[in-house]
Amino acid sequence: MKDLDVIVAGAGTGGSSAAKAAANAGLKVCLLDTKKRKDIGKKICGDAIGRHHFKALGLKDPTSDEIECVMEGIRVFSPDRQTSYAVKGEKLYGYILNRYRFGQRLVKEAVGAGVYLYDETQVLEPIIEEGFVRGVTAKDRKTGKKVELRASLVVDATGFFATIRRKLKPELDIETSVDNKDVEVCYREIRRLKQPLDEPSLCQICVTHAITPGGYYWIFPEGEDKVNVGLGVAMTKGFPNPKEQLYKHVISQPLFVGSSVINGGSWFVPTRRPLDSMVGNGIMIVGDAACQVNPIHGGGIGPSMIGGSLAAETAARAIEKSDVSREGLWEYNVSYIRKYGSKQAGLEVFRILLQKMSDEDLNYGMHYKLLTEEDLLRTSMGENIHFTITEKARRMLKGLKKISLLKRLRSAANIMREVKNWYENYPTSPENFEEWRTGTKEIFEKANTKLTE
Ligand SMILES: Cc1cc2nc3c(=O)[nH]c(=O)nc-3n(C[C@H](O)[C@H](O)[C@H](O)COP(=O)(O)OP(=O)(O)OC[C@H]3O[C@@H](n4cnc5c(N)ncnc54)[C@H](O)[C@@H]3O)c2cc1C
Repeated sequence: MKDLDVIVAGAGTGGSSAAKAAANAGLKVCLLDTKKRKDIGKKICGDAIGRHHFKALGLKDPTSDEIECVMEGIRVFSPDRQTSYAVKGEKLYGYILNRYRFGQRLVKEAVGAGVYLYDETQVLEPIIEEGFVRGVTAKDRKTGKKVELRASLVVDATGFFATIRRKLKPELDIETSVDNKDVEVCYREIRRLKQPLDEPSLCQICVTHAITPGGYYWIFPEGEDKVNVGLGVAMTKGFPNPKEQLYKHVISQPLFVGSSVINGGSWFVPTRRPLDSMVGNGIMIVGDAACQVNPIHGGGIGPSMIGGSLAAETAARAIEKSDVSREGLWEYNVSYIRKYGSKQAGLEVFRILLQKMSDEDLNYGMHYKLLTEEDLLRTSMGENIHFTITEKARRMLKGLKKISLLKRLRSAANIMREVKNWYENYPTSPENFEEWRTGTKEIFEKANTKLTE
């Protein structure tokens, strides 16, 4: 195909949103996915999304057949399950999606906007010439033939495996790899229950290092007798098999007696701040490929759609000005960081804190209300965290010789504030980027050291 403006690789929530928005802005767009069209949208996921994302993106709310149920909030359990908070609020009101139908809707909307969809087309690598990404090579899975596609701009939205990003050359100055400590490997099942859920409108989450080192397990309702149940662990040295952990510690709970599996599978999710830069000459990165996921709960459907729409807005302006250089595309970095990336960065600090706290500390923290429902709600909304440490709790913790826990909580709150301020000064052009990137690295090194002391 000749004269393409944009090639979007990957028709997940990020890629479909980017392709649709770019076509709506008048660009000639093609969207490639390795799956058959009828399989697009099938994804191992928790399927939860806040309603606020639809409002913010100007998307119509999912229809009744695109949702499994409506959720009013989250019940968070302490590791010993002795304490739990129900965290509710407008920002936590949302849906458990029928992920497949929702994915199909997004592709249909992209095609309806004029996007050319090439399904069963597996992107192999970027075509890089004179320091610019000029297109991609791909395998047509229907014929087995290798094809070359060229455009002014390529968007990598191939999800966690980031097929294009991983093969970029150093001169494009985009991180090509993500540290395993910032990745969760998950196993999840959709299960039919024999008994109804007690609270069918609340998602359940339990953080427990004994069972889910560096991660958590979840039970999300999909109606009264169906659940999405899964478990994720950080991919640090010696991490356990998440499926074995799920069966041993969660499926063994009384709720699952007599339950049956509808489907199951494993996948990965990045849980860090977004890539420091998501653009290079002729290339933009969107969704999981750009680490656009909430580092605490792993929610990436909403952020990938935010990333996709913002990338398309910048792409349209850049192509109109005939400037798809790194500089011409920089505005996407700035707009994403302002809209969601700075919140992610603060939450990465909070993730480090949670990962470094022992189960005993988490039990104390929740039992003595060091971390209240209010704190969790504010944190989930990206506001600065302030731990509610009452005089009574302080005395109690001193008596229990938990001074280091108090110190760590304070350090985390301070570093989160520092990160927020730092990200507010994200460079508006590539000029001061190197300095900013060095400073970012230093802050996160400090977080890793201070929160372990
Ligand atoms: C177990 C688990 C639970 C999760 N729970 C939630 C949750 O409850 N809520 C939430 O918001 N998020 C959740 N997430 C995260 C969420 O699923 C992702 O952040 C989101 O789907 C990212 O969308 P994406 O478009 O970037 O990538 P993807 O949805 O992964 O889409 C990538 C697309 O690219 C295609 N592709 C891949 N490689 C190629 C290639 N070489 N050539 C062509 N096409 C290719 C794929 O077929 C796919 O269609 C969860 C993730 C996991 C793993």
